[in-house]
Amino acid sequence: MLTRQVRYLKIRDIIKSSIEQIRDISSTPLLDSELMAAKALDRDRLYVIIHMDEQLEEETAERIQAMVEERKNGRPLQYITGHQEFMGLDFYVSEGVLIPRPDTEVLVEKVIELASEFGSPKILDIGCGSGAISVSLAKYVESSKVWSLDISKRALEIGRKNATDNGVADRIEFIESDLFQKLEGTDIEFEIIVSNPPYIRRADIEDLHVQVKDYEPAGALDGGIDGLDFYRKIVERGRLYLISGGYMAFEVGHDQAAEVALIMENSSSFENISIYKDLPGIDRVVI
Ligand code: GLN
Repeated sequence: MLTRQVRYLKIRDIIKSSIEQIRDISSTPLLDSELMAAKALDRDRLYVIIHMDEQLEEETAERIQAMVEERKNGRPLQYITGHQEFMGLDFYVSEGVLIPRPDTEVLVEKVIELASEFGSPKILDIGCGSGAISVSLAKYVESSKVWSLDISKRALEIGRKNATDNGVADRIEFIESDLFQKLEGTDIEFEIIVSNPPYIRRADIEDLHVQVKDYEPAGALDGGIDGLDFYRKIVERGRLYLISGGYMAFEVGHDQAAEVALIMENSSSFENISIYKDLPGIDRVVI
């Protein structure tokens, strides 16, 4: 607990103390500390950096310390601050959705490229989570219309909020659906189907970093025994909802590209299968 001395703390002091407390759990303790201070002050990070000698009100210092405690226990910074940047856009995140990863940006960039082949493409995002992929596509693919499906009500709420906050709510349809369930019986067809499905092998979930394993939704990570369950299902059902000449685009785990390409090949509905790397050089996208 903080004592009354807290009243005399400067931003610098609490940042120093925060770094000491979270350095075991965080690989970026200074950045995290600055961002938590910024959140408590309702300012941006730059403000914190140039006001290190500002005296903190006791109440603000306590708010920062409460966030530091959460971070120390492993709660991801993004759930504490409620923000993650993705494709240059700001996304609200909280427990219940996976935090958007920079690895996924290459998938979005490839889909933006493909979408330019079509006038006003209809795009389907299976398992939309926070809406990072859907919202970015609605934003950057002119006159696209996006259908975003997720089994989780909470994810859809967050996705809707992100669509609204980024000004694309009128071009995204959020639908509660277990994979293609809600599309069954319709004759809707899409130019592009995109998905970053759960793909971690069940036995590997135990080995994930505590801040992933204990805080991010297992339902967004668990891809079954071999991690490939969702690729099989999406390839099998998804081809029914693709126009001929349409594209299916997946994010895959670091060692799954060849297997996912094979699943697509074996379904004999796909040709010209391509694999693309993410920035660190890992095969990350199969189209
Ligand atoms: N990239 C995520 C992770 O490694 C997993 C995302 C997923 O299963 N789609 O934590």
